[in-house]
Amino acid sequence: MGIKVGVMGYGTIGKRVSWAISLQPDMEVVGVVKTKPNWEVLSAVKRGFKIYVPEASKEKFLMSGIPVEGSVEDLLKDVDVVVDATPAGVGERNKPLYDSLGIKAVFQGGESAELCEVSFNSLVNYDEAYNKDCVRVVSCNTTGIIRVIHAVSELSRVRKVRAVIVRRGADLKEVKKGPIEGLILKPTSPPSHHAQDVKTVIKGLEDILTYSIIAPTTLAHMHVMNITLESEVSKEDVIQALKSTPRILIVNGSILSSTAELREFAKEYVRPGGDIYENVVWEDSIWAKGHEVMLAYAVHQEAIVVPENIDAIRSLAGTLSKEESIKLTNKTLGIKNMGG
Ligand code: NAD
Repeated sequence: MGIKVGVMGYGTIGKRVSWAISLQPDMEVVGVVKTKPNWEVLSAVKRGFKIYVPEASKEKFLMSGIPVEGSVEDLLKDVDVVVDATPAGVGERNKPLYDSLGIKAVFQGGESAELCEVSFNSLVNYDEAYNKDCVRVVSCNTTGIIRVIHAVSELSRVRKVRAVIVRRGADLKEVKKGPIEGLILKPTSPPSHHAQDVKTVIKGLEDILTYSIIAPTTLAHMHVMNITLESEVSKEDVIQALKSTPRILIVNGSILSSTAELREFAKEYVRPGGDIYENVVWEDSIWAKGHEVMLAYAVHQEAIVVPENIDAIRSLAGTLSKEESIKLTNKTLGIKNMGG
């Protein structure tokens, strides 16, 4: 029998994770929790997901005519694992309920690192989360950074990381967020929180410094990273290391030179919805000299954590091995670089 999963919060991340779960042969979406009968609930209805709502929302749903299967408690008593994709901080408030019912939980990067014993990335610490009660899948930016460091660390021990993160100002639907003009250096004094967040997953990496700039774009983040290694490496070594790491794609800058082209290309040719689960590294940006490596890549913030959520479910449930899970997730989601 497959892993029975409930999804708490059906927004940007929750709806994508629900869809991804429904594509897996070894798990099922028992239902999703919505608090408001807004436009996003229509996607859940269209995809045939059963909708569960908190008591306080029942009346609103009744008035809207959207069919409701039951309460949050009704859903939770039927699941093995809950994916909590509620806004930052709400997951922490929900955790005592999951704990009281003995349900394993996958939280998102907006929650604090202290919430669960393990902050999760499939490539780095799938085994650490195996059979645990809860994990926090780190944020989109942190996931992107970790994948690249992990890939390059296959060549040599990483001594030092420096990165500038250009963050999208808002997701497409977030009409009240900005900026709509200007670039915001936030925080003005480094490191941004990403450096600390990377360390919650890659243990032993002490020397990492990140700057974060918020930009008026909704499409994707872009990172420029500099890594110092213990050994000398060539550009070719770095390309090979990236190519053999799952969920990293290398593109040619003369064909795709911006996040705008990338997302548009993804919509037309890569997969429905244009979601990009992979880090997209510009081959032309890769530079290596002596112990130093530098490169630039894009991170589609709405999608990159989706495969990690799927692997986190299997790890908590203690079903497949790391390699089996990554392979199955990649195959079912149509991820381009399967690694190896
Ligand atoms: P979102 O606002 O798009 O979706 C959250 C959903 O949860 C909404 O539908 C909201 O109505 C619902 N919700 C609110 N309170 C609830 C409650 N008590 N019970 C059930 N549902 C509730 O948010 P998001 O962007 O999907 O972010 C969710 C989490 O994922 C956050 O921790 C965030 O930091 C993280 N994350 C977001 C992104 C991104 O780019 N948006 C990327 C990676 C990680």
